[in-house]
Amino acid sequence: MAQEKHNFLLQGLSCADCALKIESSLKQQGYSSVKLNFTTRRLQIGSDNISEINSIISRIEPGAIAIPEKTSQDFSSAKKRENFLLIRISISIILLFFGILLTSFSFPPLVVLGGHLVLFSSYLVSGFHVLRKAILRLQNFDIANEYFLMAIATLGAILIDELPEAAAVMVFYSIGEYLQSRAVNKSRKSISELLDIRPDIAHLVSMDDITTVAVEDITPGDIILVKPGERVPIDGILVSSHANLDLSALTGESRPVPIVKGDEVLSGAITSASIKIKVTVDHSESTVSRILDVVENATQNKSEKEVFITRFARYYTPFVLILAIAIAIIPSLLLAEPMEIWIYRALVVLVISCPCALVVSIPLVYFAGIGKSSRSGVLLKGANVIDSLTEVTAVLFDKTGTLTEGKFKVVMVVPDENYSPQEVIMYAALAEAHSNHPIAKSILEAYGEPVDLSQVKEYEELPALGIKMKTKSGDSIVVGNDKMVHEIECPHSACITDETAVYVVLNDVYIGHIIIDDKIKTTAFDAIKYLEKRNIPHIGLLTGDTKNIAERVGGELGIKQENIYSSLMPLNKIEILEKYLHKAEENGGTVMFIGDGMNDAPVIARADIGVAMGAIGSDASIEAADLVIMDDNPNRLNDAISIAGDTNKIAKQNILLALGIKALFIGLGTVGLASMWVAVFGDVGVTLLTIFNSLRLLR
Ligand code: ADP
Ligand code: MG
Repeated sequence: MAQEKHNFLLQGLSCADCALKIESSLKQQGYSSVKLNFTTRRLQIGSDNISEINSIISRIEPGAIAIPEKTSQDFSSAKKRENFLLIRISISIILLFFGILLTSFSFPPLVVLGGHLVLFSSYLVSGFHVLRKAILRLQNFDIANEYFLMAIATLGAILIDELPEAAAVMVFYSIGEYLQSRAVNKSRKSISELLDIRPDIAHLVSMDDITTVAVEDITPGDIILVKPGERVPIDGILVSSHANLDLSALTGESRPVPIVKGDEVLSGAITSASIKIKVTVDHSESTVSRILDVVENATQNKSEKEVFITRFARYYTPFVLILAIAIAIIPSLLLAEPMEIWIYRALVVLVISCPCALVVSIPLVYFAGIGKSSRSGVLLKGANVIDSLTEVTAVLFDKTGTLTEGKFKVVMVVPDENYSPQEVIMYAALAEAHSNHPIAKSILEAYGEPVDLSQVKEYEELPALGIKMKTKSGDSIVVGNDKMVHEIECPHSACITDETAVYVVLNDVYIGHIIIDDKIKTTAFDAIKYLEKRNIPHIGLLTGDTKNIAERVGGELGIKQENIYSSLMPLNKIEILEKYLHKAEENGGTVMFIGDGMNDAPVIARADIGVAMGAIGSDASIEAADLVIMDDNPNRLNDAISIAGDTNKIAKQNILLALGIKALFIGLGTVGLASMWVAVFGDVGVTLLTIFNSLRLLR
């Protein structure tokens, strides 16, 4: 049985390092499906025993508390925390100032003693929580955390008679904590603003008036009013006569889409006039809810760099601790220098021992990347997809519905002798009546009359071939492409392979064919041009259609003939994909497959990056894909690849920046060129720098 998952919000979660520890310790305690995201502060866990969960959390991060996601009033409490921190910092700064004043001139000894007391209280005011957390962690035999290291560093400084330094370091450290928490909260806010496409309220229309209610209280069947400029809060169908919708938040497409009465209206769309909608789904199943679900869960599939940072953090802190001990002991033994100098240097190194800059900023970058791409109509199902996107060496397209409009139109009906065009299209329509294929729809449209469904007795749809069916009155009808008529070994006088043709066979006799036209999307030209410009080595076309059509379409788009594969059954598409996967693996690249999500789900699932297109309403394809293009514009890949590239670049910069500056300070500290509080500045500075660098992505 699948474990039910519960979502909590972790209030007061301020250190990314703790987030990692909380996650792993919950796992160790036997909880299933534990996922904690530092950026969103969302804890997903297969248990709702909140008091037990909280007791584990508070052992690691005192002050942090998990609350059920819905009841959370997170914002105001974060504000309160910030204000409290600010007051404490201000007091400690004033105390520090007077303490230094009183101890630095040749005042009478009593005054100097008083100065020391003032300094010590400054130290306690700013550092009490640090010491407390350090002790609590120590009780769990955990010494690889920033609190313990800060505690050791400052207590060590006090022991070697550097009280002013210890107080200053603690004060600066608190300022850093404050700034970092502000910066992280601000980034969290700008990212969620990016995703803020779900209104909380709806105007419910009843018999005689209109009331404003929470979206959660709307049920299917309700009629709601959406005012001009407002976002549609929940999916439904249009009751008003017509409307223009701006779907840009969903699809990235900014051109307004006209709809008429009875058409589907998706939540997240903005209307230009006042409209009434009849609600068709529950709040949780609404389009925006599903999009937000995908985006928020996406960060839980970690990128390579996030995984690296997690590992790195595990070894970095103990490493620095050992390094500091070595610096404190070895040189003074070897060089016979006073031990105090080297102890001080060791303490400087300890101060730089928090991997915060990395642990905070890297997940932030990826979340920003995922959020940004969702705003341009591309949903990424994981931060790992961003990695794959930056390594693409082959992009394979499905043809029908992906590169071509998939909006087929019957252009000609060619009957064989003894039959009329009406008969040919009538039999074809009867066979296609149950199919959802774009070809079927075009035939039904051309037939133009309702089909008598009670006539259909047996019915079988063969992917990439066509349809076989039997009627009640005993006729057998087969419609399909050239391959299909060869398969059933039916002699046919026509043989059309450079256009889409549907052959119609009645009781094993060919009775005519229907010529169907499909256009290449203009955006398909842009998409392929862009991929060529990026020097993606292999751009290919996989289709169930005939060789001639495939080569004509591929040729027009500029796809190399060697990468065009035709007459493929769905399973053949997987075989071709495997070939590319194999090649890519040898060269360290990845393969992307883009399908329209109708019958390509297995291929989409198998590709390194499976892309489902035009998936705004279809659950199945969202399920199989790694990347979902909300509308049917293949050129959205362009945005996705370039956002992934930027995300990756910024993540790399942050890693280099953080590691570089830390290494620099460790070096300077060891040779005695950096004092403790300079080291604190460096540490705080680099953390802030990486956070701000991450936010560049949102621009
Ligand atoms: P693609 O792989 O390019 O998306 P499909 O697999 O959807 O194409 O279909 C391949 C071919 O199979 C179509 O071009 C058509 O000739 C034939 N076909 C598939 N389904 C049907 C149908 N319902 N009626 C007639 N022909 C069909
Ligand atoms: Mg297709």
